[in-house]
Amino acid sequence: MKTKTLTLSNWKSITLILTFLTINLFSGELIARPIATDIFGYPIGQSYQYIGKGKKASVGPLATFTGYHSRTLKSTPMRLKKAAYQAFTNLRNQARQEGIYLYVSFGYRSLATQRKLYQQFGPRRAEKPGYSEHNIGTAIDLTRVTFQSEAFLWLLKKGFQLGWVPTYYYRSEGNFIREPWHWRYVGSKAAQTFYQHWKKSIERDKQRLTSLKRQGKLAKNRKLK
Ligand SMILES: [Zn+2]
Repeated sequence: MKTKTLTLSNWKSITLILTFLTINLFSGELIARPIATDIFGYPIGQSYQYIGKGKKASVGPLATFTGYHSRTLKSTPMRLKKAAYQAFTNLRNQARQEGIYLYVSFGYRSLATQRKLYQQFGPRRAEKPGYSEHNIGTAIDLTRVTFQSEAFLWLLKKGFQLGWVPTYYYRSEGNFIREPWHWRYVGSKAAQTFYQHWKKSIERDKQRLTSLKRQGKLAKNRKLK
C-alpha cells in the first residue's frame, strides 16, 4: 500500500515537471537562475516580470534627455530612471574622453509601448509587456552600436567597471536575437559578477573585435551635432 502511494505521488510529480518543462520550452522561456541582483533589487540573467499585473507599476522618478534614432539619427526625447541616467552620463563622458561617442536610441518604455512592440516584432525580437528591462528604466539601446563597432569593443572593455552589462547579448535562456546595443545599469558589483559569469565569451569577443579593429573593419562611432 505504502509503495503504491509513493509511486502514484512520484508519477504525479513527474507529470507536473514535464508539464512545466513543456510549457516553458514551448514559450521559449527556459527558466534560468539569476546571475546576480542589481542595485535596485531586480534579478539579472533571468526572464522576469518587472512590472504589470500584481507588480508595483512605479519605476520611480525619471530623467528626460535627448536621444537619437538609430537609423534616421533624428533627435528625440528619452527617459531613464534617474540613477541610471546619472550612470549613463558617467559612461558617456568616459567614452568621449577616449574618442567614442555614445547616444541613446531607446530608454524607458511604458507597458503600453512594450505591448505595441511585442505585437509588432514578436517574441524573438521583443520582450513581453512588463518583462523588458526597458520597462524599469535602467536599460538603454545605444545608437549605432552594432556587432562590429568600435563602441561595442570599448563597452566590453570599460562598461563592466562602470556598472553596465550587455544583458541581451550574453543570455542563456530563450531564442532571442543578440543585441550589442542593449546595455543595462546594474551597479559595479553586479556588473563584476555578470562579467565573471560570461568571462570566457566576453574575452573571446574582445579578442575577435580587437583583431578586426587592427584590420580597420570596425565601424567608428561618430560624433553627432
Ligand atoms: Zn534594448
